[in-house]
Amino acid sequence: MKINVAIDGPSGAGKSTVAKELCKRFGFVHLDTGSMYRAVAYTGLKKGLKMDEEDKIEEMIQNMDLKILSDGTVLVNGENITPYLRTDEISMGASDVSKLLKVRKALVQMQQKIAEGGGYIMDGRDICSVVLPDAEVKVFLTASSEERAQRRFLENVQRGMEADYPTILEDIKKRDYQDSHRANSPLMKTDDAVEIDSTNMTMDEVIDAVSDLVTKASL
Ligand code: C5P
Repeated sequence: MKINVAIDGPSGAGKSTVAKELCKRFGFVHLDTGSMYRAVAYTGLKKGLKMDEEDKIEEMIQNMDLKILSDGTVLVNGENITPYLRTDEISMGASDVSKLLKVRKALVQMQQKIAEGGGYIMDGRDICSVVLPDAEVKVFLTASSEERAQRRFLENVQRGMEADYPTILEDIKKRDYQDSHRANSPLMKTDDAVEIDSTNMTMDEVIDAVSDLVTKASL
């Protein structure tokens, strides 16, 4: 059976970049679990739901056909909603719905089923602790909030999106706080995860460090 790799960490730490490169190097399939919470927030907001209406949101999830393709494309009932998921509104909405126990249960169940056969690299906030506690490689990837805001700023500029550093930094700090202080599956490093602080590292160095862990676990 192929190994699974779990990567947790706050927003902007480089989880997706690392995951994508590891897929190329080792042939893993990437599942960005944050995009699932984003899809729930987007679909809920579109239906006019409030992000704390737990039962209604759970019912919506049970009735929605959510598919994440291996290239990261997100389909809801066959519609490609990927282009709408990276706005500030959806980032906060995802953080809000992710507090709800029933939402977490439903999405965790889907994520565990997807990774059943191994060969996945999954990133999020609770992958090491809840979704894949038996993953062969577990990484907690972090960086200072200022560095993460700077990276997001440059990313937004490159994508031609609106970019205001102080606003991005404030948003990152707000989401970090909310994600780390919620009652259900808060963002945290598990004892058995290897912590990598990428503040003063290049992405290539981070990718090499995680690749070494994968190589060792595969021996
Ligand atoms: O990773 P990303 O920033 O796209 O995630 C959006 C939000 O979804 C996070 O701020 C977090 O609240 C939530 N999330 C979560 N558990 C995960 C992945 C994401 O609670 N495994």
